[in-house]
Amino acid sequence: MQKRSNTDWYRVYGDGVLKSLPHNFTEIIYDKIKYLHTQKNMMQSKFKSFLFNKYRLIGILTLMLIVSFTFTSLVSYNVTRRSIDSDAKTKILPLISDNIYSEIQKELLQPIHNSSIMANDEFLVKWVLAGEQDKDEIVCYLQRIKDRYGYFSAFYISAITNNYYYYDGILKQIRPEDEHDIWYYNFVRTGRHYDLDVDNDEATSGTLTIFINHRLEDNAGNFLGVTGVGLQMSEVGETLESYRQRFGHLIYIVDSDGLIQIHPNQELVEKINIRELEGLQNIGDDILKNDNITHYYEYRTRNGEATLSARYLPDLDWYLIVEQDQTQALKAARLGLLGNIVMGVLVTLLVISLVVIVVNLYVSKLEETASRDELTKLFNRRKMDDLLSREIAFAKRYGEPLSLMMMDIDYFKSVNDTYGHHGGDCYLVELAKVLQEEVRLVDYVGRWGGEEFFILLPKTNTEQAKELAERLRYAVEVIQIESGRGLISRTVSIGIASAQSGKMDADEIIRQADEAMYRAKQEGGNRVVIWE
Ligand code: GH3
Ligand code: MG
Ligand code: MG
Repeated sequence: MQKRSNTDWYRVYGDGVLKSLPHNFTEIIYDKIKYLHTQKNMMQSKFKSFLFNKYRLIGILTLMLIVSFTFTSLVSYNVTRRSIDSDAKTKILPLISDNIYSEIQKELLQPIHNSSIMANDEFLVKWVLAGEQDKDEIVCYLQRIKDRYGYFSAFYISAITNNYYYYDGILKQIRPEDEHDIWYYNFVRTGRHYDLDVDNDEATSGTLTIFINHRLEDNAGNFLGVTGVGLQMSEVGETLESYRQRFGHLIYIVDSDGLIQIHPNQELVEKINIRELEGLQNIGDDILKNDNITHYYEYRTRNGEATLSARYLPDLDWYLIVEQDQTQALKAARLGLLGNIVMGVLVTLLVISLVVIVVNLYVSKLEETASRDELTKLFNRRKMDDLLSREIAFAKRYGEPLSLMMMDIDYFKSVNDTYGHHGGDCYLVELAKVLQEEVRLVDYVGRWGGEEFFILLPKTNTEQAKELAERLRYAVEVIQIESGRGLISRTVSIGIASAQSGKMDADEIIRQADEAMYRAKQEGGNRVVIWE
């Protein structure tokens, strides 16, 4: 853009084309800038007044603090929760599950192995094929196995004679009608080589026992019976109970139908299905999916929350369940959240109290500054209006007198001329000090402007005001200030107006006091005149 002549403006485009702009282009731009400037100032002052409204400021601050505290507390609570869950899933439960699994393997796989050896034992097959002649032989054989490995029982059930041999003789003859023997017929029907069965041992009047049953066949594969060993249930249960006591984990084992097989609480064994356990009704079916993956579940218990891992044990066709009660850990996290919130509330209260104190201090300081004269620190004229209307209202209400004094320094201009402005200022400060000292605590001394002062006297009638005025006049007369160019000393003229109770008006009383003061000037100064 360039100026081509004194009056016309053109815009020069890249290709050299000129476009003429309106004649008053500069004014338009100027107006535009001014408009934008005003807009900006308005926005700024709106924003400032928005922020500097005391209550709004405190409200915004409180809100910010509460929101940020709540946010951080909730975030940290969630992080803790998640880490509790993930600790359970990635560390604790897998570790426990692995440990228990190897423990179970140690306790169950050895007997499985041994029963398999029994089933492949030449002696046993030969003895059966020879017609089960010498019972002592088989009893001795079973006794030896029982003692050697410390099993609870060792047995052989013949498919030929239906005899149930055990380490102490013949227990009984099995029959399909006997409900205790159903397991045998079921097992034979499955055709499996071996299986595990938890049952009451009849030989020891019903001790809960884990039986490992193995098919016995001759070399041609003809079925001869079932042999195997029994482990005392309580021993495996004790291992699980010790885990519960040491680590607080509940560990138990269910079969492929969900029926509890091993549990620290033996009362539940073979009686309760996992689907009937509290909190597990919904996930029971899912746990028994049999997909060789360890699954994790979270569920609610009566007292709180728990995490559960379910692992399929293919050798046994059982499921290993490890439950971790998260109630305590979550309670701690919740306590932490509560602590955070309490802390947040306390800090919020503290910060807000501090802000209130600071803001109040600041505001009262501002108000104080706004109501004082800078040089003499006396009340200024603006404050005078407030004071006067307040005192008039009081006087009216209680029927008290009220007087107002106007004071003007005589020939003050010549002070500045002779001793300099600084000298004049010093004199004004000293005079203010003297006035302040002379009046009562309840009186108000202010600077009306320039070298004029006012004194507002509550509960003071004309005579009392005149008396004080004379005293002030004298107190000023004797002031002497060393200016460096000589002593400054002046006199004052004072006008007094008194308001009788009931008929008072701020403007009127000021006017009257002013008039009286001018009369004092006219009469030669250094005197007190009462308005009449
Ligand atoms: P009169 O007896 O009629 O009152 O005469 P005067 O000279 O006192 O009155 P005038 O109104 O002519 O002059 C007032 C002077 O007070 C003028 C001004 O320079 C001086 N003055 C007003 N305010 C200040 C101030 O703050 N400091 C100083 N040093 N002088 C001031
Ligand atoms: Mg004057
Ligand atoms: Mg004067």
